[in-house]
Amino acid sequence: MRNVIIVGSGCAGNTAAIYTARANLKPLVVKGHEAGGQLSLTTLVENFPGFPEGVDGPLLVENMKAQAEHFGAEYADGAVLEADLSRRPFRLNLEGEWMETRTLIVASGASARWLGLESEQKLIGHGVSSCATCDGFFYRGKKIMVVGGGDSAMEEATFLTRFGEEVTLIHRREQFRASKIMLDRAHANPKIKFLTNTLVEDVYDVGKNLVTGARLRNVLSGQVWDQAVDGFFLAIGHIPNTRVFRGQIETDADGYIVSKGGARTSVEGVFHAGDVQDRVYRQAITAAGAGCMAAIEAERFLEKEGH
Ligand code: NAP
Repeated sequence: MRNVIIVGSGCAGNTAAIYTARANLKPLVVKGHEAGGQLSLTTLVENFPGFPEGVDGPLLVENMKAQAEHFGAEYADGAVLEADLSRRPFRLNLEGEWMETRTLIVASGASARWLGLESEQKLIGHGVSSCATCDGFFYRGKKIMVVGGGDSAMEEATFLTRFGEEVTLIHRREQFRASKIMLDRAHANPKIKFLTNTLVEDVYDVGKNLVTGARLRNVLSGQVWDQAVDGFFLAIGHIPNTRVFRGQIETDADGYIVSKGGARTSVEGVFHAGDVQDRVYRQAITAAGAGCMAAIEAERFLEKEGH
């Protein structure tokens, strides 16, 4: 029987682990399929306080894990396959083995949606990014491409014009999902060029391990051409990793956990931390802060229950 199991090993999960470990709760962290979370997909992180020269994303998250382990947190490989939150202690199936826990912190994050091209996957962190806030700065005076037609795409394209010499927004159809105000703002920005009815067929250049361009196709005319770019940003949505908890913890229509105040979820004793609940900020520092909140709430919950 565990006091606390933390699902997810990104910034939120690791911070929750540091706090609960220091409270002598001996947390177990389930690493999940994307161990280290979104930070493990980035290169240099320049906006996490305390690192004037920036810090390598995977190193930052690895250090958080080491810090939690130093205080007694344990890490398990693999993912939660099933969960029974209908009564306490909660039961989790970790890769075939059922475990019991008094509290649960869900820090399983939201995975960026990708196009799924092999070249795109190979160039993540080398010119391909799903986070303009994180990586825009590296494209000063460069040519940038943003894919997507929702509010995120408009916001990211607009934000990236602060750095890039030119931003091309690629959208797969004519109509946009984005709200009128965000779309109007992007349209009014002279640095943004819109290419609608356009699909990305390939991203270059895996051989050089850096982005140099993309092959595009107009779906109406069938025309195919290459366009040179230095930065390739995806803004085609995120998928919260809540599948195993669906129907048990209240989520919104897109699957994000609905917060019941602080780090509380609709299930007493289950807490949320990070991007699994946050569709707005999605930053390493906000996820870390949320992990701290969830840990403090779990600790107080256990204390109240007499453990
Ligand atoms: P979204 O609204 O789901 O839009 C995703 C966009 O990506 C859609 O235009 C979609 O095209 C496109 N897309 C999806 N899969 C694709 C694929 N495989 N290939 C090419 N294009 C693809 O996601 P979002 O923009 O991240 O926004 C999520 C939520 O957050 C929304 O509710 C949004 O309003 C909100 N948000 C608000 C703000 C703000 O107000 N400041 C900022 C960001 C996000 P189709 O349209 O053809 O499906």
